[in-house]
Order: sequence, then C-alpha cells, then structure tokens
Amino acid sequence: MKGRCPVCGAESNQEFKPYNIPYFGDVMLFAVSCPSCGYHSSDVMLLSGGKNKKRHEMLVSSVEDLNTTVVRSSYGRIEIPELGVSVEPRKGESFITTVEGVLMRVERVVKMLSREEEGARKERAERILRRIEDIKAGKAKMKLIIDDPTGNSAIIPR
Ligand SMILES: [Zn+2]
Repeated sequence: MKGRCPVCGAESNQEFKPYNIPYFGDVMLFAVSCPSCGYHSSDVMLLSGGKNKKRHEMLVSSVEDLNTTVVRSSYGRIEIPELGVSVEPRKGESFITTVEGVLMRVERVVKMLSREEEGARKERAERILRRIEDIKAGKAKMKLIIDDPTGNSAIIPR
C-alpha cells in the first residue's frame, strides 16, 4: 500500500500484516517506511487473546522460559528489576520477539553505553552483562514486567 510519509510528504510504503501466535491469536503489524527520507515506524495491535490486560509479569527462571513470546507495542514499557533496566516506550518502535530477544536488546544497549563509561558506572554495566549471561544459562532468575496503557503488549508463555 502507498501513502504519504508523515515526515517529508513523499510517497511511502505502508504495510498491514496479520501475524499469528500459536495458542494466542492474531496480531496486526503496521509498518511505514519512506525511501525518500529513511523514516521508519512500526506498531502492533493485539486482535484477540490477552487484549486489554495492561500489565504482564513473568518470572524467568529456566532456559525454556527464554523462548516465551514477547509482544511490545510502541506504548509498552519493559522493566527488569533484577537488572535495574527498563526499555522505555517510543512511538513507532514496536517488536515481537522472545524473552531472549529482549535480553539481547538490553545487552546491546548496555555494551554500547559501557564503552563510554569509567569507574563505578562501568563496573555496574559489567555486572549487568554478567547477570544476563547467568540468566541466559538458566543460573539466575529475573522478573520481566510490561506495562502498556493501550493493552496491546503481551507476554505469551507456550
Ligand atoms: Zn519521508
């Protein structure tokens, strides 16, 4: 589908794609990308299942838990208290991934930031990265929380 880019007004590509999550239901993906200025935006909407639940919580305590599906709409805030990190909502930035995928995102950001840090802040970043390794190996636990006022985010255990 073609439409006007909200940033530069040029013709851009707009996509609506249904996506099925087994034992849960359908999710609609929206994406806009503009070849002229490079603008990109995406969002998700739950069509069934956990719709309207604003807060999801899960204790991640085993390697199998890492495969749990996570849907984050651009209004969803992800929090991992054990790591002291959160992924703040950003308009146009949504994703469907797994708990492991969320951890990889956090890992990437922490690594990037720690490069410019020194002393205590660098140590804190390194502690977070070690903790993530332990969680991925099933040796440590963490709680995953998603708050989404629109009810379009979800944690979907298998
Ligand atoms: Zn544009």
